[in-house]
Order: sequence, then C-alpha cells, then structure tokens
Amino acid sequence: MRTLEEALKLEYDSANANVTVSGVPIILISKNTFGVLHKELISVLGRGAEGVLYHAGYEGGRKGFKHIARWWDFDVKDREEIISAYAQMLSRFGWLNLEDVEVDDQKNEVVITAKNCFEARKYAGQADKPVCHYIRGFLCGFVESAFKMESLRCDEVSCQGRGDEICKFVLKPMFW
Ligand SMILES: [Zn+2]
Repeated sequence: MRTLEEALKLEYDSANANVTVSGVPIILISKNTFGVLHKELISVLGRGAEGVLYHAGYEGGRKGFKHIARWWDFDVKDREEIISAYAQMLSRFGWLNLEDVEVDDQKNEVVITAKNCFEARKYAGQADKPVCHYIRGFLCGFVESAFKMESLRCDEVSCQGRGDEICKFVLKPMFW
C-alpha cells in the first residue's frame, strides 16, 4: 500500500481551471458554501433532498472505490488496508475523521463511527435529526464495493449535527 503522499497527489493547472487529485478533477469549495447549499436543499425540498443527497453519495462511494484502490494500491481483499487508506484519505480531504469500522460478517452488518463530518458542520448541533445524508450514502456505496456486500441500507443513528457526541452509521441488509 502506498503512503498518503504517494497516493494523493494534488496538481494545479490554473490555465485550464483544473485541480486534480491523482489525475481526478476536483473543485475546492468552502465547508460554509456546501453547508448553505445543504441547508437550502433541505429547507426547500425536505425529505426529497435527503434522498437526492443519499443517492449522490451512494454513487460516489460505489464507483469511487476502484479509483481509490488504484491510488493507494492496496490489497482489495485486505479490510485493514482498505480502512486505513480511507481513514487517511477522508481526513486529508477534510470530509471526516473515521473513528471506527466494525464488521459483523454473521449478521452482514457494519457499524461506522465518525467525527467532524463536513455535512454536519453548518448545523452546529442544532438540527432536530441526523443530517449526514450524503455521507450515509457514500458509506453505503463504499461498504458494498469494498466488502462485497449487496443491497445494504445505511441509517445514521447519532449525529453531531443535532448535538450528539459522534456520527454513527448502521449498515444492514435492505431486506431482512
Ligand atoms: Zn452526522
């Protein structure tokens, strides 16, 4: 497995308004700007926005796995390596600090805890329910691809956006 610096190479091409991480174009926006967009979506569209954010995250989590495996050159069957790479990547990107990933192969359940999720920041603990919908979807797509699990759902049962100590995500089979 590569080191953080080897895996995530930032390059700037200002002449073409392009920034890339290991060849993948990205944009830099402030957490505040994203937070305003998130709050507007939720206030205008309500639960519909939760679904949009979730599905967008899911696609990113599922399809991004191959890219990320290539960046890090980790063994795709080694969960420890995968989790270590994702923990380093997500904190380096300013997304979140991955605290713990517990996989229960018997029950096909995964419990993930995280702190400092970018999606919760703008709510400053004042939301009335969990708010990390994009991350919830991202984790669902990531776990399905990385751990070869099918048809999961991901619920956030505790969230810093509503003042809980940690964001906690529970993934389990959609049909059970
Ligand atoms: Zn949260």
